[in-house]
Amino acid sequence: MSERKAQLAANLAGTEERIASACVAAGRARKEVTLVVVTKTYPASDVRLLSELGVEHVAENRDQDAAPKAAECASHSLTWHFVGQLQTNKVRSVLGYADYVHSVDRLRLVNALSAEALRREREVGCLIQVALDSEAGAERGRGGAAPEEVEALADAVAEAEGLRLEGVMAVAPLTGPYQGQPRAAFDRLTEIASSLREAHPAANMVSAGMSGDLEEAIAAGATHVRVGTAVLGVRSRLR
Ligand SMILES: *Cc1c(COP(=O)(O)O)cnc(C)c1O
Repeated sequence: MSERKAQLAANLAGTEERIASACVAAGRARKEVTLVVVTKTYPASDVRLLSELGVEHVAENRDQDAAPKAAECASHSLTWHFVGQLQTNKVRSVLGYADYVHSVDRLRLVNALSAEALRREREVGCLIQVALDSEAGAERGRGGAAPEEVEALADAVAEAEGLRLEGVMAVAPLTGPYQGQPRAAFDRLTEIASSLREAHPAANMVSAGMSGDLEEAIAAGATHVRVGTAVLGVRSRLR
């Protein structure tokens, strides 16, 4: 085993231990939580090593990096998640590899995703990204729809051809009332997810938790944790 592969294996084992402990602490079954490894800024060779180590789900946040990387990993059976802010002019490229888009946050994007999914005769899993620090109309640096916008967006996704409404996604806010309180933020997300399921019972994905707060996310009910740094190491470029 190469040095890099051994390092990734050790990091994965540590991450798995954290997820398993968090599930025990929350009284949840381990299988209720899916690990999505965020491979942004790391090379395709790392993604292939992760696949060989048993990773099935990977995520990227920039199409310029993700598209060539996904192409270089085409021989590996992986599910690709797109988790970054998405411009409509990138939708055509993103749907060339992404199975899930976690960052659906506006109607124009729903329409673009639907049109491209139809053109490709495929179905795309969509999560509504919720900006938990957002009042309607406020500055949203990291993307996401205001909580009060979620229902209408979810209805639009559910009605759009080629799209499957899967659930909600959030990042713990760096500002606002939930700053420094990831557990409270993720509890709010779970609440939004529950009300969404009243109208859309199959939309049961709750994508929350990163390297620094995956325990809080699992305690709050996350079904998918998105972990980068803890598996691959500290990124050299700030994203
Ligand atoms: C980078 C990123 C992650 C992973 O963050 P880490 O702190 O490296 O685990 C998760 N979600 C999104 C949306 C990201 O951009």
